[in-house]
Amino acid sequence: MREPLIDQDPTDRLLLRSTRVVTPDGERPAAVAVEGGVITAVLRHDAPVPAGARLTDLGDDVLLPGLVDTHVHINDPGRTEWEGFATATAAAVAGGVTTVVDMPLNSIPPTTATAHLDVKRDAARGRVHADTGFWGGAVPGNTADLRPLHDAGVFGFKCFLLPSGVDEFPPLDPAGLHAALAELTRFDGLLIAHAEDPGIIGAAPQRSGRSYADFLASRPRAAEDRAVADLIALARRLGARVHILHLSSAGALPLLAAARREGVRITVETCPHFLTLTAEEVPDGATEFKCCPPIREAENQDALWQALAGGLIDCVVSDHSPSTVDLKHRETGDFAAAWGGISSLQLGLPAVWTEARRRGHTLADVARWMSAGPARLAGLAATKGAIAEGRDADFAVLAPEQTFTVDPALLRHRNPVTAYAGRTLYGVVRATWLRGRVVARGGAVTGEPAGRLIERPAGGR
Ligand SMILES: [Zn+2]
Repeated sequence: MREPLIDQDPTDRLLLRSTRVVTPDGERPAAVAVEGGVITAVLRHDAPVPAGARLTDLGDDVLLPGLVDTHVHINDPGRTEWEGFATATAAAVAGGVTTVVDMPLNSIPPTTATAHLDVKRDAARGRVHADTGFWGGAVPGNTADLRPLHDAGVFGFKCFLLPSGVDEFPPLDPAGLHAALAELTRFDGLLIAHAEDPGIIGAAPQRSGRSYADFLASRPRAAEDRAVADLIALARRLGARVHILHLSSAGALPLLAAARREGVRITVETCPHFLTLTAEEVPDGATEFKCCPPIREAENQDALWQALAGGLIDCVVSDHSPSTVDLKHRETGDFAAAWGGISSLQLGLPAVWTEARRRGHTLADVARWMSAGPARLAGLAATKGAIAEGRDADFAVLAPEQTFTVDPALLRHRNPVTAYAGRTLYGVVRATWLRGRVVARGGAVTGEPAGRLIERPAGGR
C-alpha cells in the first residue's frame, strides 16, 4: 500500500483548535481531538493538548466538517478526456470536499452491472484524493443486476425518464421504472431519479441557437413537476425510497412537501448553480451555463432557498458534470448542440456560502446542506458529515470573509470551463483534512492520493 507523502501519520494524535468549530449543534469555540483518523472528542476551546498530541491552532478560521458530494460525474474510464478520478478528486479536496459518490453514467462502461463496477473501482484505486463511492444505474434490461450491485456496495441506483445524453445509459419507460423500483423495494434500495418528463419536454418548443430564453423554454418547469408527481405516486404505491436529483423547478416543492407530510419516503437535492445563478443573467451563447434541468429565474431561486431554509430540500450537491471544451460549442454558442453540465466541484462551498451569507444563513446551515444532508442520503452519517465523536476526521478549513475571483485555469478539474468564471466569491478553503491528514492546502493537493474506495455500509441503507 502506497503511503501518502504528507507530514502526518494517521495514527498521530491531533488537537485542532478554532474559535469557530461547526458542530451539529451549531458553531462554537472548540478543540477537536483526533486519534487514528477519527474524532475522539469535541472539547472546550481551552482544553489542554493531550499528551503526545500535535496542536493545530486555526485561530479564527472556521473548522467545517468535510463536504460530502453525492452527485459527481467522474466519467472514468471511457471519457477520461472529460474528467477522471485523479483530477476530479483533486478538485474536490481543493474545494473542501472529502467524500464523493460517482454517478453511474458518462463513464464507459456505465455502472449497471457488478463487472462494470469492478472496472470502475480498478480505474479509481490508488488515484483518488477524496474518499470515493459509487452509485449504480437502473437501465432497460438490468433489473436482475440491481441486487448484485447493491450487495457489492453501491449506494443506490440512478435512472432517467428521458434520454440521458449518452447512448450507453438509456432511460426507463414507465413499465421499466415500475419493475426497477419494485425490485429495489425487495432490499430497500434507493432510487435516485433525473426527474424530467419526456412527454412534456417532447411537446415543448425545441429551437437551436444562442438564445438562453429558447433553451429555457425547451426544458419547462412543468416537465420536472410532472416527473416528480409521478415518482411520488410510485414511491407511495410501492413503499419505495426515491430521491429527486438536481431539483430546479420550485413548482415541485408543494408536491414534495405534501408527500413528506403524508409519509412518502422521498428526499430531494438541489445544486449550487440553481441557488446562485439565474436565467436573467445568463448571456446568450454562454453555454458554460447549460445544464438539464436548466438554471431558472430569480423568483424560482428564491423559492428554492425558502425550501432549503425550511428543511424540505435535504441537500446541496454539485452535479459536477464536465466535458471537453469543444463539446461546449463556445464558438457557435448553440445551446441545443452544447453538452449540458456545469463544472463546480471545487467551487460549491464558496458559491453556496456567498449566497447563503447574503441571505442571512450561517455556516452551520451550509454544513447541514452540504455535509450532514448528503452523508445521510448515502447512509454514511455514522462516519461522515459531522464534527462529532466517532466520525472520520474529515475537515474543511475556511476563511469565510476572504474573497477571491474565480480563474478557471487555477481549478483542478480537467477542463478549464466553469459557469463561475470571473465571479468574486466569499470563502477561501485554506486546508482540507481527510481522516486526520492534510490532503489539500491553499488550493493544491499536498501528496499522493490518500482517498479510499468506500461502500454503502452494511446495515446502512
Ligand atoms: Zn448529474
